Amino acid sequence: MTAQRILLIVLDGIGDRPHPALGGATPLSAARTPVLDRMAREGATGIMDTIAPGIRPGSDTSHLALLGYPPEEYYTGRGPLEAEGSGIRMRPGMIGFRANFATLGPDGLVTDRRAGRIHGTEPLSKAIEDGVDLLPFGVSFRFVSGAGHRAALALEGTGLGDGVGSNDPKHEGVAPTRFEPTTVRPEDVKTAAVLNEFVRQARPILFNHPLNRERLAQGLPPANEVLLRGAGRMGHFEPFGERYGLSGAVVAAATLITGIGKVVGLETIHVEGATGSVDTNLDGKVRAVVDALETHGFVLLNIKGADESGHDGKAEQKRDFIERIDGALAPFLDLQETVIAVCGDHSTPCTVMDHSADPVPVLVRGEGVRPDRVTKYDEFRCAEGGLHRIRGRDLLPTLLDLIGKSHKYGA
Ligand code: ZN
Ligand code: ZN
Repeated sequence: MTAQRILLIVLDGIGDRPHPALGGATPLSAARTPVLDRMAREGATGIMDTIAPGIRPGSDTSHLALLGYPPEEYYTGRGPLEAEGSGIRMRPGMIGFRANFATLGPDGLVTDRRAGRIHGTEPLSKAIEDGVDLLPFGVSFRFVSGAGHRAALALEGTGLGDGVGSNDPKHEGVAPTRFEPTTVRPEDVKTAAVLNEFVRQARPILFNHPLNRERLAQGLPPANEVLLRGAGRMGHFEPFGERYGLSGAVVAAATLITGIGKVVGLETIHVEGATGSVDTNLDGKVRAVVDALETHGFVLLNIKGADESGHDGKAEQKRDFIERIDGALAPFLDLQETVIAVCGDHSTPCTVMDHSADPVPVLVRGEGVRPDRVTKYDEFRCAEGGLHRIRGRDLLPTLLDLIGKSHKYGA
């Protein structure tokens, strides 16, 4: 009998390097992980370059590769994916941006790039959508709040390009920059002008908004500026269901990951209390995955917290969170007719505090898998496994073959 379904578990930023605080172990190798170790013992293991050796992946490009959409072909910047994840229905050709609400001081300098990590900005976004008019440019737009201080902008109209810079000065104590085209192409020149006009019109709307007056009265930094970056043109994605003959779903907290899921046609499953941090509702996510596997042939589960600990350089916190993840994954051991793959999307070493090109450990467990001798899921042991060293784009074809959904190449 062959398995019928695929569960792809991406432990975001799980890979690491030897850490002095852990006696030269990595957070994953130092963690007690009986569930992952059992999966490794029963399955095949290896290490994986999600893009290619020496390439330092973003979470977006690596997830595209893992889902079988080569980023060289499909990746056009983070903006369109964030916009889709924030709930904007991106159509091919639309230009998407990531946005931050920020605080400008009376002198026009940025005093807080995250507006005091403001929450509940929906009334501000609504006021911008109602009040900013780009129709003189022949451009319509959506501006939607995301989590916390984040938001997304999407422009639609003829003659727009994605060759534009940002107005984010990246530092506090300096003024926002003007948008400049990065080429001399008319569509990029026009888009830079549209963005400068967008920001010019948004400022008085935000400045006078009751929510910001109230924040000022409470001594909180007002969200009186929009910083935009990550311009990208929405491409055409062949839907996952048609490409692989499997209906797919995604369980993730980060809008970047749900956005990628949406653009490739995975159903987003919302989980109460999923935060994308170490305080996330892991059990709720695992339950949602088990339910989703009843009706979907493919489920992607992204667990973000370990990446955050890596960026913060907190090795012990990362190790402890990995142990929590391991405990929460236990229900998956009983899944029937399911091929399970566990991997990272990239390494986020605590010593680097950013993504690195170090390959990530990967395991595949399920009916038909040829087990190897590896009995622990970590960066060192998996390097001795039967999958050896693969690329991110090799994983899904391997899993599809195990459920009898691969196409024969040749006669
Ligand atoms: Zn990531
Ligand atoms: Zn990261």
